[in-house]
Parts: sequence; structure tokens; C-alpha cells
Amino acid sequence: MAESEGFPLVEPGLWVERVGDRSFPAGRPALFLDRDGTINLDTGYPDDPAQMALRDGIAPVIAAANQRGIPVVVVTNQSGIARGYFGWDAFARVNERVVDLLGEKNALVDMVLACGYHEKGTGALAVADHPMRKPNPGMLLEAGRRLGLDLKRSLIVGDKPADMEAGQRAGLERGWLVEGKGSTMGGLSVLPLRDAADLGGLLTAIRSL
Ligand SMILES: [Mg+2]
Repeated sequence: MAESEGFPLVEPGLWVERVGDRSFPAGRPALFLDRDGTINLDTGYPDDPAQMALRDGIAPVIAAANQRGIPVVVVTNQSGIARGYFGWDAFARVNERVVDLLGEKNALVDMVLACGYHEKGTGALAVADHPMRKPNPGMLLEAGRRLGLDLKRSLIVGDKPADMEAGQRAGLERGWLVEGKGSTMGGLSVLPLRDAADLGGLLTAIRSL
């Protein structure tokens, strides 16, 4: 069984890990972040912790949320698990490295959710359009239930339109798209995250929550 391996798998393809012991009153908004390509440089199905490196400017974003008492929640699609490129053990090592790199910059993550389902998977992980896989909002909704979040006021940062769509479908109103363009997606305003001015806007939004 997955649980016997010591990993926080609530089902074969869903990792839900509470990191650290910071507690939050109900009704807080969260800062949701995609992982690969948003927090760390995307090396393509990363499975080697030694290759992980942070993207410039992301640690201060997370630290600003920490200072404001905003829970920081990582929501990451990991179809490499379903595809058999690597296992949850490699995911665990890579993710621990990312969390440690952030910690070195005083940026703390409070929860990590990872979805290992994909239609091209095998066995129990072969699920097309799983509700937990972005652009579906399942991981955000699950974090919302577990932390008692105010999703409407929560923010999401990602590098793919699927990240923004997941935010929109979870009821968020603001998202930042790495190297993207501004747009409106249903009730979600998408802002670009391309330069220092964009980063400043995101920091201001976090400090204003
Ligand atoms: Mg990404």
C-alpha cells in the first residue's frame, strides 16, 4: 500500500502533504503556486534533486505571504508518475529539495498537493481528466477544505493557462501567469508575471490581503 511507504498519498495518484506546523485561522486566502516552471526552473519531468534551481523572484513572493500570515500551497501536476518516468520516491526527493531551497531564502511552504494521474498512465494512475489534475480545480478545492480557505480572495501563480483555469474554476479572482499575457478568464483576472514591475504588483497584492 502506498501509505506503508511513508508518503502522504491519500489515494494512488494524489499526494497531500502538510509542511511545517504553522497554523492558520479559517477564512484566510491562500497563495497557490504551481511548482515546475513557476517556483523552480522546469527541466522537463524533473526527477533529480541536484538539478533543481529556483526561478528568480519567487522566494520573495512566498516570503511575503509568510509575513502576511497567508498559507502557501503548491499544486503540481506530475504526469511523469502516471507515465512511469519516475515514482513518488523521486517526486519526494525533488520536492524536498525545492522546499529546502526556498527555506534557505526564508520562504516557507505550508502544503503540497501533487496529482499523478494522466490518461497515458498505467494501472490505477491511468485516469483521463482526473478531477485533481489541472485545469480541473480539485487540488485547490481540497486545500480549501483542509485549510478552511477563502478561495475567492486567494491568488494563484503559474506558468500555464491550465494553472489559471484551475484557479478560475476554484473561484479565485486573480492569477499571475509567468511569461504570460494579461487576460480575463471568466471571473479570473490574469496578470502577466514577466518583469520587476509585475513582480512588484504581485507583492503588493499579497501584502494587501
Ligand atoms: Mg508549470
